[in-house]
Amino acid sequence: MRQRDLKSFRKLLTRQLDQLLMEAERTKDQVKEAEEPSSDPMDQASTVLDMDFLLRLRDRERKLMVKIKEALERIENGTFGICEECGEKISEKRLRARPVATLCIDCKHEQEVSEKRVRHSEPRKSPTLWLHM
Ligand SMILES: [Zn+2]
Repeated sequence: MRQRDLKSFRKLLTRQLDQLLMEAERTKDQVKEAEEPSSDPMDQASTVLDMDFLLRLRDRERKLMVKIKEALERIENGTFGICEECGEKISEKRLRARPVATLCIDCKHEQEVSEKRVRHSEPRKSPTLWLHM
C-alpha cells in the first residue's frame, strides 16, 4: 500500500480511537451513575436495564478499541491491508468501509460460513499473524 494511503488510514483510525475513548469515558460515568442506589423503586428497575445495556456497550467499545489499536500496529509493521488468512491484499473499498478488517472479503465470507457450521468454537487464528509479531 502507498505511504499516502497508509497515512490517511492512520488518521482515520486515530480519529476513531479518540472518539471511542471519549465515548468510553462517558459510558464509564453513566455506569457510575447507574450504580448509585436510588430510593425510587421504578427508577431502580430502569437502572438495572440501563446497567445491562451500558455494560454491553462498554464491552463493545473495548473490543473495538483493541481492534483499532491492532490496525494501527499493522500500519506500523507494514502488514496493514493484507489478509491474515490468505496473504492477499484487502480491497481498498473494504478497508475504507472497515479499516479494522483483517480478512479479505473472500476469507471473511469463508469464516462466516464456517462459523455458522461450527458454533461456539474458537475463531480461527491465522499462523501468519504470529509471524508478524
Ligand atoms: Zn483472504
